[in-house]
Amino acid sequence: MDQSKREKLLAEHMRARPHLREIFQFLEKIEEVRNASAPDDLLSLVDLRDASVKDRLSRGIPLIDRPGFARLSLPHTGGTFRKLLTVMRQGGGEREVFASRIATFIRSEGGEEGAVIARILSREDGYLDGVSQTMEVPRPLLVFLIKMSLRSSFERLHETLLAVLRGLAWEYTHCPVCGAPPVIGQAMDNDHRRYYCFFCSWHWETRPLAGCPSCGEMDTELFNLLYKHPNEHQGLLACESCGTYLKMVDQREGPDLLNPDIQEILGLHLDMAAGELGLRPLGQPLSQAETIVRPGIDDYRP
Ligand SMILES: [Zn+2]
Ligand SMILES: [Zn+2]
Repeated sequence: MDQSKREKLLAEHMRARPHLREIFQFLEKIEEVRNASAPDDLLSLVDLRDASVKDRLSRGIPLIDRPGFARLSLPHTGGTFRKLLTVMRQGGGEREVFASRIATFIRSEGGEEGAVIARILSREDGYLDGVSQTMEVPRPLLVFLIKMSLRSSFERLHETLLAVLRGLAWEYTHCPVCGAPPVIGQAMDNDHRRYYCFFCSWHWETRPLAGCPSCGEMDTELFNLLYKHPNEHQGLLACESCGTYLKMVDQREGPDLLNPDIQEILGLHLDMAAGELGLRPLGQPLSQAETIVRPGIDDYRP
C-alpha cells in the first residue's frame, strides 16, 4: 500500500471513528516520520543462496538470521527512532515520560539509537525484557517504536525477497521473513487466508487449516470464529483448547490488501474482549501475554 493511499485511508477512519481519533492522530504523526525516513540495508541478514532458502523454508525457519543484526549499525533506523521519541514527547503526559526514560537509557548505552536497536534484535527475547525493566518502559511500547523505526527498511528488504519467496510454499502461521506471529488474518475466500506479520509487515497466503492454527483443535465447541462486530467484518478466531486467538477480517467480498497498522487500532475492542475471555494472541507464550515470540527463530537452535 503506497503512501498517499495510506494517508487517505487514515483520514477516512478518523472521520468515521471520532472515539479513536487520538490514537489515529498518533499513528498519522508516526506515518509522517516514517515516510520521511530512509531505509537501512537488511539484506545481509538473509542467505539468498537457493539451497539455503529452500532448506529453511521447508523446515519452517524464517529467512532472517537474528544474530546477524549484531553486525549492523542501522543509522537510518536510529534516526527514525529518535524522531519518534520527539513525537512521543510532543504528546505530553505519560508518553513524554516514557520518551525521556528511553532517551536516558540510550545515552547510558553509548548514545546511538541504531546500535542499541541492532543489539536488542540480535539477542534473545529475554534481553528485551531486561531492557524494558531497566528503562521502566512497557515492552509493547518499546517493540512498537522499534518496529515502526524499521518499517521502511523491511519494506525495502521485502521488495528483494518477493522474487525469492514467490511460488515457494509456506504453510506456517509465523512470518517466513522474520518469524513473528501474525497480527491479523484475512479470509480471502474459503480456501485462502492471508496473514499479516506483526513485526515486519510482510504478508503471506496459505490454505487455512481446518482447525485452530495454533494447536489444531477441530471441535467447534472449543474452536470457533466469534464475530463481535459483523458490520466491520472483524472477529476473533478463538480456541479454548490452547487459549489463543487471532483477529480475523472477513474480506471474501473483496480481497483488497489491508493496512495492518490501521486494522490493529480498529481491532482494539477485539483484543480487549479476548483478554476478558482469558485468551492470548496467537504465537505468544502464556507467561508473557505481551511478549512476541518468533517461532522458528527463538525456538530454533542449529
Ligand atoms: Zn515478519
Ligand atoms: Zn488451539
